[in-house]
Amino acid sequence: MDKMKHCSFCGRSNNEVNMLITGINGCICDDCAQEANKVVMENRKSTNKFEIGTLPTPKEIKEYLDQYVIGQDEAKISMSVAVYNHYKRLQYEQGRDDANDVEIEKSNIIMVGSTGTGKTLLARTIAKMLLVPFTIVDATVLTEAGYVGEDVESILSRLLQECNYDASVAERGIVFIDEIDKIARKSDNPSITRDVSGEGVQQGLLKLLEGSVINVPPYGGRKHPDQKFIQVNTKNILFICGGAFDGIERRIAQRLNTHVVGFDAVENTAKVDKSNLMQYIAPMDLKAFGLIPEIIGRLPILTHLEPLDRDALRNILTEPKNSIIKQYTRLFEIDGTKLKFQPEVLDFIVDKAIEFKLGARGLRSIVESIMMEKMFETPSSKPKTLTITLEYAKKQIDKVASKIANSQQ
Ligand code: ADP
Repeated sequence: MDKMKHCSFCGRSNNEVNMLITGINGCICDDCAQEANKVVMENRKSTNKFEIGTLPTPKEIKEYLDQYVIGQDEAKISMSVAVYNHYKRLQYEQGRDDANDVEIEKSNIIMVGSTGTGKTLLARTIAKMLLVPFTIVDATVLTEAGYVGEDVESILSRLLQECNYDASVAERGIVFIDEIDKIARKSDNPSITRDVSGEGVQQGLLKLLEGSVINVPPYGGRKHPDQKFIQVNTKNILFICGGAFDGIERRIAQRLNTHVVGFDAVENTAKVDKSNLMQYIAPMDLKAFGLIPEIIGRLPILTHLEPLDRDALRNILTEPKNSIIKQYTRLFEIDGTKLKFQPEVLDFIVDKAIEFKLGARGLRSIVESIMMEKMFETPSSKPKTLTITLEYAKKQIDKVASKIANSQQ
């Protein structure tokens, strides 16, 4: 009797559907669950509210980021303030009817920090708590219009996809442009060919950052005469850019040296922390790196991410809400095994990440290599507990050391 259940929405029996989920007073089949999900998502997108009263404060935004991202306080504060102001400005714009009222302009952000220090993680984490459409795009695919690659406008196609092609919603969104340093002008390149993936793209990007009405090909990619464009005004879209700017420390060092002249030269030089030059970054360093001044001017908030030291890497392993160790512990828990790591193993993982020069990015591949055999065996043997010892970890890493080092290059 009990076997013949029906979906409370479409009425089909469990014989007619792939899956029937049973609730307290009814059931729902997989098709109806999917439909319901669609309706909920659409509703969420069309009711993008910007209630200033319910908005998290910059402090609350930072506290949220703290749960997932270790350190990087300066970048977190800049992001929290920028996102908060973004919401506030949108609210203000909605309520503003007097044309003579003060117009609050947006402040786009640029984050500079070595690869693997958490730029994308910051952007992704903030996206989780946002009520506005958010998208991450990679600047490396962009080329000047007419050349192989994607036009700058495709950045907005991604944002439109996020909000079901509703331009009015996209116009309030946030875009994270990753690897912005890859479109730097190739100034030291004597080639006479056009710089189609450098300055050309920056000129295109400028239009977007400044705020203008852009014809966006809805499905991205290349502009095509047959494609119907959607017009998007970028005036209120917040742009956050991130890049590693490899080698920019050299330019910062040069600037600091040339500026340190005069009576207190020696004193000032002594104050410079050579191990972390990134903290002294200034707009002119971006210019020296090859960003055009107009772009730099449109990214008024310049913030940096700190290199990750041993303590930071150790914390990244265990502290964030979804840290790597917590993820593996949960993986084993699902099979009924309590997984433990000897504390020395965690130090060993950090040492290896530093030795392989992999930073935070390498932590996962190192843990993965240590755990691979156990992940293969444990689901069959189902031990109650499993402790990873230093000796075991070393043995596993020795087997694959060269593979890890190569895989990250
Ligand atoms: P990038 O700066 O190159 O964008 P990512 O944000 O992609 O670096 O970082 C790569 C991975 O390293 C992340 O997925 C995360 O697991 C880890 N990671 C890097 N920095 C941090 C950090 N500050 N806190 C926590 N995890 C981090």
